[in-house]
Amino acid sequence: MRWPVKARDTWDVVIVGAGPAGLSAALVLGRACRQVLVCDNGTPRSRASKAIYAFVTRDGTPPAAFRRAAHQELRRYSNVARISAHVRRAKRLRDGRFEVQLGQRNVTCRKLLIATGVVDQLPQIAGIEKFFGTSVFQCPYCDGWEIRGAPVAVYGKARRGFEIARAMTAWTDDLALCTDGPAALSHSDKLTLRRNKIRLYEEPLTRLRGIKGKLQQIEFRDGSILPRTAMFFDTACTGRSQLAVSLGCEFNRRGGIRCGQYEATSVPGVFVAGNIIKDVQLSIVAAAEGARAAFGINRSLTREDFDRRASGVQRIEHPSMQPPLTQRRGRPQSPGA
Ligand SMILES: Cc1cc2nc3c(=O)[nH]c(=O)nc-3n(C[C@H](O)[C@H](O)[C@H](O)COP(=O)(O)OP(=O)(O)OC[C@H]3O[C@@H](n4cnc5c(N)ncnc54)[C@H](O)[C@@H]3O)c2cc1C
Repeated sequence: MRWPVKARDTWDVVIVGAGPAGLSAALVLGRACRQVLVCDNGTPRSRASKAIYAFVTRDGTPPAAFRRAAHQELRRYSNVARISAHVRRAKRLRDGRFEVQLGQRNVTCRKLLIATGVVDQLPQIAGIEKFFGTSVFQCPYCDGWEIRGAPVAVYGKARRGFEIARAMTAWTDDLALCTDGPAALSHSDKLTLRRNKIRLYEEPLTRLRGIKGKLQQIEFRDGSILPRTAMFFDTACTGRSQLAVSLGCEFNRRGGIRCGQYEATSVPGVFVAGNIIKDVQLSIVAAAEGARAAFGINRSLTREDFDRRASGVQRIEHPSMQPPLTQRRGRPQSPGA
């Protein structure tokens, strides 16, 4: 772990995770004159990705170049420090602050932002790792354009398979749904697929074949071969860190963290941003959530200090958890709100 030159033990905000969400939050909080520590253990979701698409002004940028540009921008703010560290644990103290354990060292902070992302669960098919990020993908909004009109396989079981197949019809009309075992779909779902010219393959898959990461064929257990140039899958993805669980944050039905205004969680002082919320999983959305969380954090800190100076009483300000959806879709509030 490399500590910043001006290492300190107390921060306004500790951000765990320096993907698009955490880096965006760091920029907004840095510009709000907060003392910010950003910790990252170097396992971003985009590791397998060759380029970030659908991010206006950055369409097609390699993830490493995106990170370098963000680090360069953050260097302008001496109040923002970045360290390479795995955050093992965070604990809420009696006074509402947090103790965050980084390797052998503990720091404290007033607000904690968890932006630790998710881990993709690849389908269990021999050889799939070689293709992931080049011709096997999980998000058509990210990588659909490059394979538009091509022969594509979609991989997913039961309703998930049906839904990813339906989603992919925006990009190609040459679709094969592979369920890797019995489809577990209703007669009416199968009819709907047929009417949309989506072929259903229920035979288990044994391996993917291709050259230099480019998929060419799918091999099934019965020995049959299906020529395809790309595959999109929809399997569960899991949160990359247990911090939110250990702090007692509430989760929603999709397994994402339940959050209200400005990405505030059910635990006062804890905010989340990015893929860990399990909403739209684009980098630009993660960055926007990071900025929203930063806004909420700075607003709480400002209000707490304003009141303390007036009354001498330290209270914890935390954005509302209700009603999360209408608040998110409603009229944006001005920075003075
Ligand atoms: C193959 C592939 C292609 C993709 N293509 C695109 C695309 O074209 N366009 C697009 O918009 N999106 C794309 N994505 C999705 C994109 O990667 C995510 O939307 C984005 O990375 C989410 O940002 P995040 O900040 O939430 O999480 P991440 O980028 O995953 O960042 C989380 C960070 O937290 C760190 N971390 C986790 N736990 C800890 C801990 N305990 N302590 C310290 N650090 C920790 C990790 O090291 C990581 O750097 C793609 C994803 C994949 C897999």
